[in-house]
Amino acid sequence: MSLLVANPTSRKKIRALTNAIREILGLQDEKCFPVVEFLELGLPQIFHDFSYEIVAPHELKNKYGVTYPEKNVIRLREDVYENAISGIGRDRFTVAHEIGHFIMHRPGSIALARNQAIENIPKYRDPEWQANTFAAELLAPPHIIKGMSVKEIALCCGVSLYVAQIQSGQI
Ligand SMILES: [Zn+2]
Repeated sequence: MSLLVANPTSRKKIRALTNAIREILGLQDEKCFPVVEFLELGLPQIFHDFSYEIVAPHELKNKYGVTYPEKNVIRLREDVYENAISGIGRDRFTVAHEIGHFIMHRPGSIALARNQAIENIPKYRDPEWQANTFAAELLAPPHIIKGMSVKEIALCCGVSLYVAQIQSGQI
């Protein structure tokens, strides 16, 4: 559980957001969402001050990526960025996850949880749950994966088998 709390939201609301993003981009029915292109070309058009930085692994310690909404920056580990370009599901998910933080967790929408309340934070207020749900809904939305097997979802949408299983309701 995160030590931070975000404004509450639901999977339904996050899905409406990711579907709106696909629609704005004209990619409603695109099976393999071009997440790196969205980072590089799409986000700067929507957020004019947005920039991203690719950094050496040691600069991020144990993290794959980190988002600073107040600085309008997403910082990604070099290997994650390159793997995402190569289509590796886990790394595509990381890029989408950080984009989720950037879009949903604008400055002022996140607060520190009070110590005694951490155990009781509902998942819909957990920024990590929200960013994971954003990534899963952006990359493998129900209208695209309908009727597909878990393997097909992973292959067509460029997600891990784990995410494919979650999105198909198997876990
Ligand atoms: Zn995160």
